[in-house]
Amino acid sequence: MTRVLAVASEVFPLVKTGGLADVVGALPAALKPHDVTMRVLVPGYPAVMAALEGGSKLHAWDDLNGGPATLVAGRAAGLDLIALDAPHLFDRPGNLYLAPDGADWPDNWRRFAALGHAAADLGSGRVSRFVADVVHCHDWHAGLAPALLHHAGRQAAASVMTIHNLAFQGTFPASIFTGLGLPDIAFAVDGVEFHGQVSFMKAGLQHADAITTVSPSYAVEICSPAGGMGFDGLLRARRQVLTGILNGIDTDVWNPARDAALPQRYDAASLSRRATNRPAVEEAFHLDASDDMIFAVVSRLTGQKGMDLLGECIDGLVAGGARLAVLGSGEPGLEAMFRAAAARHAGRVGVIVGYDERLSHLLQGGADAILVPSRFEPCGLTQLCGLRYGCVPVVARVGGLADSIVDANQAGLAAGAATGVQFMPVDRTGLESAIGRAIALYGQRKVWTGIQTRGMKTDVSWTASAGRYAELYRDVLKRRQA
Ligand code: ADP
Repeated sequence: MTRVLAVASEVFPLVKTGGLADVVGALPAALKPHDVTMRVLVPGYPAVMAALEGGSKLHAWDDLNGGPATLVAGRAAGLDLIALDAPHLFDRPGNLYLAPDGADWPDNWRRFAALGHAAADLGSGRVSRFVADVVHCHDWHAGLAPALLHHAGRQAAASVMTIHNLAFQGTFPASIFTGLGLPDIAFAVDGVEFHGQVSFMKAGLQHADAITTVSPSYAVEICSPAGGMGFDGLLRARRQVLTGILNGIDTDVWNPARDAALPQRYDAASLSRRATNRPAVEEAFHLDASDDMIFAVVSRLTGQKGMDLLGECIDGLVAGGARLAVLGSGEPGLEAMFRAAAARHAGRVGVIVGYDERLSHLLQGGADAILVPSRFEPCGLTQLCGLRYGCVPVVARVGGLADSIVDANQAGLAAGAATGVQFMPVDRTGLESAIGRAIALYGQRKVWTGIQTRGMKTDVSWTASAGRYAELYRDVLKRRQA
């Protein structure tokens, strides 16, 4: 039995701003058959504290970065959690990372340094009644833990650092370094120092026993100057301990045969029923009723996600006879751009600015294609949901999108392998031609349903990847003992 403590700022279904939460929420159950028990350490946000059942106090600090804090172990939403209950850091309304004015909380370094300290204390035997063999840290929020464990010495748990998105680096002014509880030597190029500042992501990447990221292609991309966002040198130097493990999705949460968000449930054998969900999509997104193709977007509305490129292609998409339903929120300029497109193409383009789980399921179960034109994409989950729901993915050929979709070119179709449409380069022309190809394929009913059915039969579960994580945990432990 391998005992793993996962450390993350988000966990589905309690607190989520993106795919990170889905992964952290799904892994514990997926790892169980592999003889791994996983507990998840998360900040005690209001939603976490409210959901926690049977909480028992594991540990307390009189002063953890400015106030008293407690570790509370309990269960919520079927997960074994340890909440870091520190009201002065986490008991705040609204966004996890942003103050009401839209700027980062000014004390984010203190908040996530506290998470790192709690993880390191749990991983180094300072909390009686708790033992972990491996501490698995997700993204920069947990990045300080591997550095603290490293300086705690060899008796501490092994550490794994997973990159969900290298663009978020947890970078703060050098002046905070003295508040981190690290030895002076850690403020160095082979420590947590990053161009004269402190980076929590670097702290994790530099010191973890193993590094993973969420797709094999992204693991290669981040070792190049173009994809490494300043960390490519470090990652090249640590290539021996870097692996890409493709994310899965929770196939119980995402199951079109049992999805309560769908007016009509279906599976690959009853695909024809899927069309019954179309009117619900049309109604929700104020689209005119018709049989014309519906492209969907479920995404943060940001440049990374290629949403500006999509903006440039909307008029062409509509002129090509298709419709567009967008669900997302993000950069104000992009939100305004989509709203303007909906006004310009009333009945053909519908936009809902916001975050809505139910609508995201409805789109996957009722629209025809899911558009993911990301400039870079560590893994991407919406294309995996699209495969499972017969909502054909139209994606940029980058990162996890390249690894999870087989392009419907002549060879892909002839081999009976195609599951979607890929495009490269990621620019307006590339996206325009992908939209055009998708519309043409949609017009060939047999070909289209073949692509849908193949996608629905693709294994997008955690089964294979959970096995790879389990193997990795055992590897790092073996290396420790060697
Ligand atoms: P990210 O880079 O945002 O983490 P992913 O594709 O990895 O992108 O994960 C995004 C997750 O968030 C998916 O589960 C997707 O369904 C969900 N999601 C994104 N935007 C919305 C939204 N506006 N409403 C509901 N779910 C959303």
